[in-house]
Amino acid sequence: MELKGCGQPWFEMQIEYNEKVGCCCYYKFEKDNLTMPLDIDRYWNGDYMKQLRGTIASNNADGTGCEGCQYIKYGTVSGFTTIPEGLTKIQSDNWDSALTNYHKKEMVIDSYPVKYYMNFGLACNLNCVMCSQEDMRHTDRRQLPVEPLRKLKDYLVIANEIAIIGGEPLMIPNSRKFIETVINDPDYSNVKLSIYTNGTLLHNYIEPFKNMKRLGICISLDSVGEAYEYIRKGARWQNTERNILNFKETGEKYGLDWNVSIAAVIMKSSIPRMVDFVDWCIENETPVHFVPIQKQGFTQNEEVFNYPELLDDIPDWEDIFDTAIEKLKNKGWIAGAANPLTIMKDEIKTQALVPRGEALFSTGDIEGALKLFIEVSEKDPENVTAINNIAVSHWQLGNTDTSMHYFLKALKLAPYDRDTVINCGKILISLDQPEDAKVLYLSYLQKSPDEEISELMACLEG
Ligand code: SF4
Ligand code: SF4
Repeated sequence: MELKGCGQPWFEMQIEYNEKVGCCCYYKFEKDNLTMPLDIDRYWNGDYMKQLRGTIASNNADGTGCEGCQYIKYGTVSGFTTIPEGLTKIQSDNWDSALTNYHKKEMVIDSYPVKYYMNFGLACNLNCVMCSQEDMRHTDRRQLPVEPLRKLKDYLVIANEIAIIGGEPLMIPNSRKFIETVINDPDYSNVKLSIYTNGTLLHNYIEPFKNMKRLGICISLDSVGEAYEYIRKGARWQNTERNILNFKETGEKYGLDWNVSIAAVIMKSSIPRMVDFVDWCIENETPVHFVPIQKQGFTQNEEVFNYPELLDDIPDWEDIFDTAIEKLKNKGWIAGAANPLTIMKDEIKTQALVPRGEALFSTGDIEGALKLFIEVSEKDPENVTAINNIAVSHWQLGNTDTSMHYFLKALKLAPYDRDTVINCGKILISLDQPEDAKVLYLSYLQKSPDEEISELMACLEG
């Protein structure tokens, strides 16, 4: 995967409630550990950030935390390339230096973050069907502390933007305190405050927000009407819609540089009314960007990317995508909207070949199945299920070396994919390499206990 276009490690610092520091939401490996008091200089030119800059500069994600990055895959990388009008001199000088450092791909840089992204915690007033935080929310109640952030004022006021996220940042006590700090201190008046919110509590803030000249609200909204209420459990469509429209009207009325954008998740329940949703966004001039549901297996009723058979209930789903894409193209919303939707539609179509191949395999048509699995892996080279299935098919056909090649490829992409680990171990055993199988099983078991793998391991030890 090429990493051209990612400028995150030169422009953005993300500070998180879970005591981590990074520069984006998509990095797969551990981020830097956050210790207080927060020392921006130390983190910004620390080993973690330098290593990331090196990865981007090398334009090679293989084996790094950037491998498979969604930001790059769906083309939703945020642009830092144009400095807007109206910044203070110190803000634009800093951004200008950041651009120079980025273009030269410097590892140690003399500019400071242009954007700070602060994740205050997991608390939320909703219970959305696809929320990836739901399980953790009840056990992890940490919040990003406010005082150390207040002490960073000299750094924060030279940035272009401070973005606040949760959970729901308009209900988390510490994020509310920090938002109040920013909106009540005139030194922040030229900084853009961005709030990533579900929008249900926005009415409480429209008045106090009037202090901010520059304000961006990114609303998590995936559908309209009843479909919205089904997805965003606990929210009422009428109220959220009214909050968004009131916010827009207030900004316009007072001549403020306020904008609303929409972040929409593609999942099973957001597809049937996708066209109405796109119409709503267009009618209300609220630009939308689409992201796929998190593909981690805990939202299987909604996860159409790995489970395309869920779309059997929506036979016209491709037409729905096509109509929505056409409307977005006509509107000129291409980069974050029409393009990712097109990529996602193709991805689902490709993934749907996997169960078809598996059905052929189960009827004994191994050659036919193999063709489909190969087609999937050519279109989606990081599709671990397809690669694992290619390996199994080759094994069935007696092509041992080719089979092993594909298993190793699948393991490289997903070292802890259960099916791949089990199948690969069995083949190693049949090739009289039980020690290698043991190492593989042991490494899997250290990560996650599993009865079947424990039994396989016990057989090897016995
Ligand atoms: S994971 Fe993606 S967004 Fe993050 S630094 Fe790597 S390429 Fe950039
Ligand atoms: S609004 Fe966001 S954080 Fe809250 S439950 Fe929904 S998805 Fe989760």
